[in-house]
Amino acid sequence: MTAPGPRLGLDIGGTKMLAVLADPSGTVLAQRERPTPARSGAQSIVTTAAELLREVALAGGMTGPLRRVGVGTAGVVDHRTGTILAATDALPGWAGTPLAAELSALLDGAQVAVVNDVVAFALGEGRYGAAAGLTSYVAVTVGTGVGGAVVVDGTPLVGAHHLAGHVGHMAVPQAGDRRCPCGRRGHVEAIASGTAMVETYRLAGGQAATLVDVAAALRAGDERAVDAVRLAGRGLGTALASLANAVDPQVIVVGGGALQVSQLLLAQARAAFAETALASLGGVEIRHAQLPGLAVALGATLLGARPPGPADPEHHQNDTAPSAPTPSSRGLS
Ligand SMILES: [Zn+2]
Repeated sequence: MTAPGPRLGLDIGGTKMLAVLADPSGTVLAQRERPTPARSGAQSIVTTAAELLREVALAGGMTGPLRRVGVGTAGVVDHRTGTILAATDALPGWAGTPLAAELSALLDGAQVAVVNDVVAFALGEGRYGAAAGLTSYVAVTVGTGVGGAVVVDGTPLVGAHHLAGHVGHMAVPQAGDRRCPCGRRGHVEAIASGTAMVETYRLAGGQAATLVDVAAALRAGDERAVDAVRLAGRGLGTALASLANAVDPQVIVVGGGALQVSQLLLAQARAAFAETALASLGGVEIRHAQLPGLAVALGATLLGARPPGPADPEHHQNDTAPSAPTPSSRGLS
């Protein structure tokens, strides 16, 4: 059965990796961060991951071999095998990496469970953050792209192609024919990501390299920046309302780097949500995430204590973590 005590979690993002050792209450006992060696290839990322995990375990006073590790990583992940199925250009060569198997081999056979980073984010916020105590919620990250995870009755949806929760690729009228990074047109990510807000601002004649510049223009009252964030917020709210109409969440949690423009973004999202959501969903709050920077790694620590993430328990493999509390048994008071 599940050993009590501290757990290891790792967040692998496009630019940085964060490993934490946390106790079951979510208190971080130790943490270590490094830039992701994305340009050096997948093998280098796996090696760095193993080093980081050993370092953080040592820093937290863990002795002996590492037994269980949870990982949340960018990319589409087969949660049953812990293999990366697809990844963006931010992590060249990441797709196809059998991450769980390779990391386990480097960690002397430790059990390694791997999920998509937004799923880990959702698990972290659902246990320790903005959705603590809730069992049905949507988690969204707005940053370079727009990511999402849908948790229904305590279980993150996976889907037939490991794509459930890809909120960013919902079509919204506000996106018009703007091109999405996925290649399609009209998806909400094409107007609501941080990258897209910069593009909208530039298309209106503004000068900006990053969202930090748009945020500064916003504070200075530049109407073009206001319009860019307003468009993003309205698109986001419309997509979230359509999704909520289909999956009936208790709350929606929004996190990610784009929250530097969050006040206007979320105000607009809430307004658009109210226009499209069914009347019964009027009380569904769109909330800020509460674990900035930590939600993915903390959510990953929860993976070691049960079958790897949202995998169908009937299909989980013999070499995965032993049965233990599923997310649905999480403390609903
Ligand atoms: Zn798309």
